[in-house]
Amino acid sequence: MAGARERLHNLFPDLDFDPDVLREKYRKERDRRIRADGESQYIEAADAFAHYADEDPYVEPGFEREPLDLDLDVVVIGGGFSGLMTAARLKERGVNNFRLIESGGDFGGTWYWNRYPGAQCDIESYCYLPLLEETGYMPKEKYSYAPEIFEHTRRVGEYFDLYSHTTFQTRVTEVRWLEEKQRWKVSTQRNDTILTRFLIQATGPANRPKLPGIPGIADFKGHSFHTSRWEYGYTGGDHHGGLTKLHDKRVAIIGTGATAIQCVPFLGAHAQKLYVFQRTPSSVDLRGNKPTDAEWYNQQQSGWQRARRENFAAVLTGQPVVQDLVADGWTDIARRIGISLMNRRPDAGNLDMEEIMLRAEIADYQKMNEIRARVNGEVTKPDAAESLKPWYRQFCKRPTFNDEYLATFSRPNVELVDVADAKGVERITANAVVANGKAYEVDCIIFATGFEITTSAHRRVDFDTLGRNGLSLYDHWKDGFRTLHGLSSHNFPNWFTIGINQNGLSPNMTSMFDDQAIHVSHVIDAVLKSGHSIIEVSAEAEEAWVKTIIKLAGSGASSFLRDCTPGYYNREGRTSTGAGMQNAPYAPGINAFNHLLAAWRTKGDFEGMELD
Ligand code: NDP
Repeated sequence: MAGARERLHNLFPDLDFDPDVLREKYRKERDRRIRADGESQYIEAADAFAHYADEDPYVEPGFEREPLDLDLDVVVIGGGFSGLMTAARLKERGVNNFRLIESGGDFGGTWYWNRYPGAQCDIESYCYLPLLEETGYMPKEKYSYAPEIFEHTRRVGEYFDLYSHTTFQTRVTEVRWLEEKQRWKVSTQRNDTILTRFLIQATGPANRPKLPGIPGIADFKGHSFHTSRWEYGYTGGDHHGGLTKLHDKRVAIIGTGATAIQCVPFLGAHAQKLYVFQRTPSSVDLRGNKPTDAEWYNQQQSGWQRARRENFAAVLTGQPVVQDLVADGWTDIARRIGISLMNRRPDAGNLDMEEIMLRAEIADYQKMNEIRARVNGEVTKPDAAESLKPWYRQFCKRPTFNDEYLATFSRPNVELVDVADAKGVERITANAVVANGKAYEVDCIIFATGFEITTSAHRRVDFDTLGRNGLSLYDHWKDGFRTLHGLSSHNFPNWFTIGINQNGLSPNMTSMFDDQAIHVSHVIDAVLKSGHSIIEVSAEAEEAWVKTIIKLAGSGASSFLRDCTPGYYNREGRTSTGAGMQNAPYAPGINAFNHLLAAWRTKGDFEGMELD
């Protein structure tokens, strides 16, 4: 212990806080929130709660069409960025006999559904919006708002002529491998008959809203909706605000994650009374948005967008870069840690692992001290200010960035209800949200309670995938994902998925989806051209990849997440064993993963996959 303190002092002689005190505070705050029921505290937006997910407030009701009868080369399920990019990359390769099936009324996925006021992407637009060079589009600002992103998905759809390949307002109900036909059969709620050689599931990680299993949730008689199905008919206004129908309404919002941070300022500005029920505060950093400098943008050389994305990923994974091109809140902490690693004392030789971890931890405390200090500067009510301070390491939860959220709690009509001690809202009655023994009567409850992102794979999609001999994908994955490269599985011939597990992960989701789309479209195109009819991951290659993922995930990340406050990042505090490790991303990061995939393609022998 004395040695550890001496080391700390030697490395950081000017530290103005005691890391031991913070460590202990973080541990206590974490324990306050850990629940015995873990992930099962949430309920699916299904059955009695299906309307929270299945109703589409953005289309005219009553759409009907004749059932389709199709025999195709490829079906892509999902018209968000992952499906769009996959279809675009197929088209680029000249694969044209495909159909994209989408449940919404247009492209967009996340950006089709999430139209809540203030919705904005936290990832810099120059990295996030794909195909900027191809489409010649210049984003308006460094951080795009939802309508611009939604428009961009439509632009990509137009650019690649994907509208003529897409069936909207259609929910897939089952996909099944037909051995005798060597085709996938895709069933939908519209009684379509669709056969296809290849199937790509691109249903997205934030596709299914999730609800808190608060006792009495079904008893509420007022109005309620999930943030991803915002009901402007009830609130009035639009994405830019103007929620004038709330002027005489008492509103409760449950949840204070990345979504709530963005819409609470608008609710606070318009609701007669707003109660924000908070279990864990988000870390809220400066937004610092600014318009795009057209001169700078137009000077970019060909290939700049990929280079920028790779630079962003490199900074986030601590790889050395000449310049942090994005230079924002995301890269700030990662860059600081990276810099401290690179600033090795000349006499120290190679840093040992313990020192690396300590430097990272100290940089994190410094960053979070700044985040907490920011709360004091923005919130005038002392109790609310105390509750709004996050006590955990920054990447335990999704960092957020907003310049209006904190100040909203200084408004007289806005009340923060801290439900940390009770580990959540206690109960919902016909007309109230009950917390800490007190009933808060409300007219409307808005659930900002997130999505089925890390819950079991089957909860994330609302249909089954049945491979050889009727094997359900979700039985195959019952103890955790089993794939090669996160993209395909044994016993599921000609089947691929675009996703976030067992592959290179980045908070810049669109770039990872595009990289996977490039790979999957390459494989499908190559098989179509080869004259083979089936490609399937071998059992051995699948097992080897699972082992690789677990082995690489085994060190830093899992112990980091184990000590974190609960949330979906650490599967409500249960990440370090079993499926938690197996579902991890490829630990060396997205750039390393892409090099691995590129080398696999160059080798050209479909290593780990069997052709019939
Ligand atoms: P989250 O899952 O991040 O947040 C859910 C919130 O609900 C948490 O604050 C959680 O508290 C709270 N909650 C759950 N159950 C209860 C309960 N019983 N009582 C009280 N509170 C409860 O969902 P979001 O929709 O905010 O974000 C989901 C993800 O979507 C983000 O992490 C991000 O990846 C993405 N997103 C991205 C944006 C962008 O800018 N790119 C913007 C918005 C979302 P607790 O933390 O204690 O569990």
